[in-house]
Amino acid sequence: MSSSGHTKTLSEIEIPQTITVRDLAQKVGVSPIDVMKILMANGVMANINQMIDFDTSAIVLSEMGIEALPEKKEEIQQEKADNVPLWRKIIAHEDPKFLQPRPPVVTILGHVDHGKTTLLDAIRHTNVAEGESGGITQHIGAYQVEHNGRKITFLDTPGHAAFTAMRARGAQGADIVVLVVAADDGVMPQTREAIAHAKAAQVPIIVALNKMDRPGVDVNRIKQQLAENNLVPEDWDGDTIIVPLSAKQRKGLDDLLEAILLVADDMNILANPKGKVIGTVIEAERGKSQGVKATLLVQNGTLNEGDVVIVGSVYGKIRAMFDYRGRKIRKAEPSMPVSVIGFHDIPNAGEMFEVVASEKEARQIVAERQAQAVKNVEKKKMTLEELFTRVQAGEVQELRLIVKADVQGSIEPIVSSIKDLSTEEIKINIIHAETGDISESDVMLASASKAIVVGFNVKEDVAARRLADAEGVSIRTYDIIYRLTEDVEKALKGMLEPEYKEVQLGKAEVKAVFTVSKLGQIAGCRVIEGEIKRNARVRILRAGKTLFEGEIASLKHFQDDVREVKQGSECGVGIKGFTDFAPGDIIQCYYMEKTATE
Ligand code: GDP
Repeated sequence: MSSSGHTKTLSEIEIPQTITVRDLAQKVGVSPIDVMKILMANGVMANINQMIDFDTSAIVLSEMGIEALPEKKEEIQQEKADNVPLWRKIIAHEDPKFLQPRPPVVTILGHVDHGKTTLLDAIRHTNVAEGESGGITQHIGAYQVEHNGRKITFLDTPGHAAFTAMRARGAQGADIVVLVVAADDGVMPQTREAIAHAKAAQVPIIVALNKMDRPGVDVNRIKQQLAENNLVPEDWDGDTIIVPLSAKQRKGLDDLLEAILLVADDMNILANPKGKVIGTVIEAERGKSQGVKATLLVQNGTLNEGDVVIVGSVYGKIRAMFDYRGRKIRKAEPSMPVSVIGFHDIPNAGEMFEVVASEKEARQIVAERQAQAVKNVEKKKMTLEELFTRVQAGEVQELRLIVKADVQGSIEPIVSSIKDLSTEEIKINIIHAETGDISESDVMLASASKAIVVGFNVKEDVAARRLADAEGVSIRTYDIIYRLTEDVEKALKGMLEPEYKEVQLGKAEVKAVFTVSKLGQIAGCRVIEGEIKRNARVRILRAGKTLFEGEIASLKHFQDDVREVKQGSECGVGIKGFTDFAPGDIIQCYYMEKTATE
């Protein structure tokens, strides 16, 4: 059959994993009848609305002289194998000539009560241009300010929750982290946690040294603490910018904005406003009257009213869009946060969104994803039992745990007894230890950090369980500390690189040296201790010093090849790669034995 008359000038077409006969025909630019004819000729009876798979589409296309390429849909769904967020990869693929600077996106992290909220409010009030709506700003989870005529986007859900959610989903919305450290308190556990998060995500950190108005502040002490956590201040020859400020008195804010722009300039923060539209869901909720309201941060491309947006398995057509001032807008460019209405269901905060051609395509993608999701969970699951295998595969050198306990009093003994289990090979890293039931945010942190959640006398809430199942996070709860440490220890023992110890077999003394045509140099020896075994390892000692280590190439007792020669007997020994025997050398024979790792 010849269909070449139908083909356009195309020679390659991207085809999804499944497609209807009608859509395939439309993609190629032929009548569905033509597609059906080819299918029939190949023994497939399909009606116009029937779904055919990729292989079948490929056959049809090849009859038309077109090559079918799998559509690169899986990109957005890929596993977060590395720490590079997907949007960065997409931007990296954009043609450089279309890339334009976009405002940096900043997230504020820090220990509780160090002043994150106060700082976010201070920046918002001093720098958000008083708009037509009387300066009233809406809380949509993000806002933009202007400094020296340049925009900066702030994610204003302080704390780890939002940041962790994004990392957990591999999206990672922020370009720069501002780490708030209260000058009168210094580096605290959540400060360290935030540093760990930012470093893992490869996001630069600017330290906002807050509460400088407080009396008795010792800046040097805090610089010391920061340096200990790998944030070496600039004036100590490091590269961490530290901005002293007072969020409460609104002092030093301009310096902070200045520092952000400085760091941003170094980073070359770019996007293609005309490229593929993608971004991150900042937050989402079901509103009272207008259905689901979601805040989206555009990271590449331009989002338009009427676009069909898909997030995981939730989609919707944007019916209306608002900026953080509550003003209705029609389009949003890179780094702009927008509140949108139109999703059918609540999308997950932290997840990435993309724009697709139609609601129909969205439905199709959702179906594919739901099928794939089931497979992924199986694959991702990280359990204590599985750690061993992963360690052996070289995938894990560290056991990361998130510890939840009922009372503060139990955290300390749990943490210290678990930490005692650390070995040189496998470090135990307790990412987070806190009182309270196991929550969704614990699971997110675990997923982002590939950690296991262990609970002591606590429960997991329903949402946490659901998320853990979806993300493949392992949760284990205990009511006896001993059982908890025992389990960790078991996993660790299994996780240890097998250790070997040397077991001595025997020694032989070299009496004479021969050169045998086929075998090379042979040492004529007498076994003076134990036995010499053909398959064992040997060490050649001269005057008490090791000269060579290796394997036996040949072992003979008179003319016979033998497997072992015992004390008191004579033998001829050839060593692989060694031709420097001298009478008096000692051949030490040993083997390596695995020490118990069970
Ligand atoms: P968050 O938990 O990190 O969001 O901290 P908050 O912003 O809620 O601040 C915690 C407390 O510290 C509040 O009582 C604030 O008023 C206070 N605070 C925040 N910034 C400053 C500051 O610059 N100076 C002083 N003296 N107090 C501050």
